[in-house]
Amino acid sequence: MRRPRVPRTGLALWILLASFACTRAAGPFEDAPVVLVSIDTLRSDRVGCYGYAKAKTPVLDALAREGVLFEDAFSHCPLTLPAHASLFTGLLPPAHGVRDDLGFTLDAKHRTLARRFSEKGYATGGAVSTHVLRRASGIAEGFALWDDSFETGAAVEATGERQRDGAVAAEAVARFVEAEGGRRFFAFLHLYEPHTPYAPPEAHRRHADPYDGEVAYADELVGRFIARLRSAGAYDRALIAVTSDHGEGLMDHGEQEHGFFLYREAVQVPLILRLPGGRKAGTRVAGVAGHADLAATLLDLAGIAPDGMDGVSLRGAIESGRTLARPVYAETFYPRHHFGWSELVSATEERYRFIRAPRSELYDRVRDPREQRDLAATRREAVAALDGWLEQKAQLAAARDASVAPPDPKDKLAVYAMYRHAIERRHEGRLDEALAGLRAVVADSPGLLDAWQALGTIYARQGREREALASFDAIVRQDPTNAEAHIALARLHTLAGRRNRADRHAQLASETEPGRGFETLAQMRLEQDRPAEAAAYARQSLAADPERVMSRFVLATTERRAGRYEAAASQYRRGIESASRQQGPVVPGLHAGLAGCLVRLGQDAEAEAEFRQEIALDPRSREARIGLGRLFRSQRRDAEARDALAGIVTANPRAGADEYVVVARTLARLGDVEASRDWARRGHALYPGDARLR
Ligand SMILES: [Zn+2]
Repeated sequence: MRRPRVPRTGLALWILLASFACTRAAGPFEDAPVVLVSIDTLRSDRVGCYGYAKAKTPVLDALAREGVLFEDAFSHCPLTLPAHASLFTGLLPPAHGVRDDLGFTLDAKHRTLARRFSEKGYATGGAVSTHVLRRASGIAEGFALWDDSFETGAAVEATGERQRDGAVAAEAVARFVEAEGGRRFFAFLHLYEPHTPYAPPEAHRRHADPYDGEVAYADELVGRFIARLRSAGAYDRALIAVTSDHGEGLMDHGEQEHGFFLYREAVQVPLILRLPGGRKAGTRVAGVAGHADLAATLLDLAGIAPDGMDGVSLRGAIESGRTLARPVYAETFYPRHHFGWSELVSATEERYRFIRAPRSELYDRVRDPREQRDLAATRREAVAALDGWLEQKAQLAAARDASVAPPDPKDKLAVYAMYRHAIERRHEGRLDEALAGLRAVVADSPGLLDAWQALGTIYARQGREREALASFDAIVRQDPTNAEAHIALARLHTLAGRRNRADRHAQLASETEPGRGFETLAQMRLEQDRPAEAAAYARQSLAADPERVMSRFVLATTERRAGRYEAAASQYRRGIESASRQQGPVVPGLHAGLAGCLVRLGQDAEAEAEFRQEIALDPRSREARIGLGRLFRSQRRDAEARDALAGIVTANPRAGADEYVVVARTLARLGDVEASRDWARRGHALYPGDARLR
């Protein structure tokens, strides 16, 4: 084949022009570090560069002036974990399979951005500000560094969700960037502001709407982080993307937070890209785009093929100023998973937003951007087109097979509000009000398993066994695989001495959650003084989940009781390590148990330290105080022995006659007759009727 002849001078000119064009074009930037910032719960219409006059977002606004702003960017799910799963995989939720924050993990088979970047030699590091994005969620796949430590005692918000100040995560990512120096890296920063509770620091409390104050604080944190990028010499050569995982209802359609509905305030998010060297500065891109597209774009801009993704690269859109005309998918299964109501799915295109529900809705984005007038009944063609597109996209057939049509979430808004209200009363400790609200909720919606769970938990705490059993039974009748309810039932039946029924529920729990189910059986067997079976169940639990602290404790205890102190000490230590990696409630007795073994092994100094550690975690621990008292007495440190034992009474605000008896008897057993008599006298003065204190 003959090639067209190009004169030499012409060729040189052509190459020159091409290279000139390249320097101005949107990449690829093979040498650029890549930085992705996710500001949780930030709806785009509360940011200055998106037109909000009351905003105080100077950092994001400056970034938009230096970069590329996408005017119509959307999340694929108004929930944190599914949204980040799409952001990292470039896949829509039906493809990556993470449909809720709870009960789902991202499968390691999916090739995340971090995995793809690290395969190309990038260093990878991320830090997050909510427990929902902890490493165990699978979201950290591919990251060499993932900072998700939540100190014990950190603020636990009303939903029981653990979070930390975004400054901590920003510091962690900044240090990662500084340590990488000139290397290529992929850094991810997640900030939990402006998620509820809206409690910004002092400097941002003057906003009429506290949500805006939280947004302002998030903006400040991004600014501090960018300053660190600058001082590390990484800012100008980096490819920086800032977005949010989803928006916030703010009562536009009756929802305060997010997850329940798919109206635009819940899914429309900011998306700003700053290209290396500030290329394409000030570009605003029209047309809709989604998080999956952002994932593909980051790879494409870095010169890596974004294969196997649902998203498509927006590199062309950066050049043309307009995205390709394809709808953006979004879903929420939150109403279905938590309440037994219908899931929602939506398709967003430039003109219309279609929300598929038992009563579907269609909104004209141009004439009615606040989505106040539903046009589904009149614009039949638009509905049919977008409904057909969703049908293919979401593979919804299975979900639609339900013989009884589930209620439409918008018809259940009042019940949902009542439920949220009851849960808030519960967190405030106003249990009777919470119970009244929850009973009204399940009377309306018996399929609301979360409400039954809350009811059962409160009843159990109040010792109302019959009502507690009825609540958890209501759950397993509707969801026979609900491990949490089976475990609660196992505990209640154990307390009432019904061993067979307790066993059956724990076995059922172990079928879906072997780590927790077998752990419950192990605890039950230990209490029944059947150590061999207890140990066997503990091992089964640990085989399924090596981080089960209570199973480790059971195993350690059985070893210790058999006199195998080395083996027991090793199990206690592993339990302590697991506990330090988790945020569950403190499992009492790990340090005291270890200390008891160390005493037997003749390691007194180490034992003393472990006893003290136990007392620091649980000042009322009898086991630790008695063990420490005995150790001190054996070392002739009598005054310290008395102090340690006195704490059984003095460190316990609810101490009664029993505590005085324990102190007096322990001192007597240790041969400190004088101190024993003193404690008996003191107890007798308070409880003159108690024969044990005479
Ligand atoms: Zn979120």
